[in-house]
Amino acid sequence: MGDTLFAKIIRREIPADIVYEDEDVLAFRDIHPQAPVHVLFIPRQPIATLNDAAPGDAVLLGKLLLAAADYAKREGFAEGGYRTVINCNEHGGQTVFHLHVHLLAGRPMLWPPG
Ligand code: IMP
Repeated sequence: MGDTLFAKIIRREIPADIVYEDEDVLAFRDIHPQAPVHVLFIPRQPIATLNDAAPGDAVLLGKLLLAAADYAKREGFAEGGYRTVINCNEHGGQTVFHLHVHLLAGRPMLWPPG
């Protein structure tokens, strides 16, 4: 799997509205927001899809989710609720092949998703 847009964001080669970062995780606003809050949480380490995550990535995957929950708490919408989504491959709707967690909030979410 070649270089991705998100790898370029990690390397600061293209701009992004970064809202959180630590040694393992970077979070930035989605360029085409699908809700009033739409933030992407990505590992610095490139993993193309959820299918490519290995048992050794378990802690990293947990860190992505915890970073999303912490952000929701900090920003004050955790109690109201939010949605986290990982799209995988074509039928999952994945378009950028660097694993990412979508955090969506600020409006009621529908179920089932489209
Ligand atoms: P996916 O469809 O689950 O792979 O999600 C990829 C997301 O990346 C989409 O919601 C896009 O709107 C978003 N996206 C694509 N390019 C950029 C960018 O340059 N900055 C921020 N978000 C982006």
